[in-house]
Amino acid sequence: MAAIELRGLTKVYPGGVKALDALDLAIPDGEFFALLGPSGCGKTTLLRTIAGLETATGGAVVIGGRDVTGVQPGGRDVAMVFQDYALFPHMDVTDNIAYPLRIKKVAKGARRDKAAEVGARLGLDYLMDRRPGQLSGGQQQRVALARVMATQAQAYLFDEPLSNLDARLRLEARTFLKKLQRELGVTTVFVTHDQAEALAMADRMAVMEAGHIRQIGTPAEVFQRPANTFVAGFIGSTPMNLLDGTVRGDTLEVAGCKIAVPASAGGPLSDGEEIVYGVRPEYLAYSAEPAEGAFGGQVAIVENLGASHLVTLDVNDVSVQAVVPEGSEPAVGDDGYAVPRRDRALVYRNGELV
Ligand code: ATP
Repeated sequence: MAAIELRGLTKVYPGGVKALDALDLAIPDGEFFALLGPSGCGKTTLLRTIAGLETATGGAVVIGGRDVTGVQPGGRDVAMVFQDYALFPHMDVTDNIAYPLRIKKVAKGARRDKAAEVGARLGLDYLMDRRPGQLSGGQQQRVALARVMATQAQAYLFDEPLSNLDARLRLEARTFLKKLQRELGVTTVFVTHDQAEALAMADRMAVMEAGHIRQIGTPAEVFQRPANTFVAGFIGSTPMNLLDGTVRGDTLEVAGCKIAVPASAGGPLSDGEEIVYGVRPEYLAYSAEPAEGAFGGQVAIVENLGASHLVTLDVNDVSVQAVVPEGSEPAVGDDGYAVPRRDRALVYRNGELV
């Protein structure tokens, strides 16, 4: 088990794509850390550079206090699960799981015992004699996970570990993987493009954009207080309302409405300043009656979210979205009012949280 530290890590691919741009990141020993970000932002490259499968163009990778930047993958003592599993088709599940132990010259009996133990934990016990071609995609994924977890390593690296599971299995695997990581206490970095997965599983997470880390924090911090408008717009099952506004004395003018200054942004605002006002649709209280400090407008769209509805209000030609509990949703064309929660609204100046 070991901490992972990246110092000024840069990766430029042949052809000139700068996939990682002077990244600094410190992941403490035992942490479950998620890398999240849009397609092409550099998540897989970051993971592969930690593993040594890509050579860094600049900067350093330090694992357990040892600079491994120039060390081959085999000498880094990390285990990685790939998106495509890389299972051996001619070996059964036991031999696939035990393969890294064979490489390490662990005795056959001990290898089989370990494979059986880890396989059982991953619910593979009745499949141990099958070959990968006789398994479903989700089962193959579990074999790949088991192979990594049978390996003693200082760190585990997972690239989209749950991507091939169906929605229900995925939820199960999420809980299971988190529990297993806790028990083993091995520093784990996992890449996902699924923010619900990152929010649910990670101790801490990084949100990346175009080779840069835009925020590092606990899931709660990243969700409640996105550090910039990129993260604010990226995180959340329904995107945050990000609205242009102007400071008017001790209130804000946003979409032509008089809105209270968020609790967290009291001090540093100056009169007349242009800002971006952020509030999640979940943190707007919707009403059919006029209310002080509300966004008031006409209902343009009502979308069913299951237990709630997403209502889009047209507020002086600006769209403002609010989540409305099932049963009290309005109809298109109604007048509607949405009061933001002062303790949850945010103000951004030049794209950065005030
Ligand atoms: P996704 O979520 O789609 O898997 P990602 O965040 O993992 O994306 P990377 O695969 O790390 O992103 O790619 C980062 C950037 O580097 C992209 O612009 C990609 O096109 C580029 N890239 C990746 N691999 C190579 C390569 N072998 N040669 C050249 N460019 C590459």
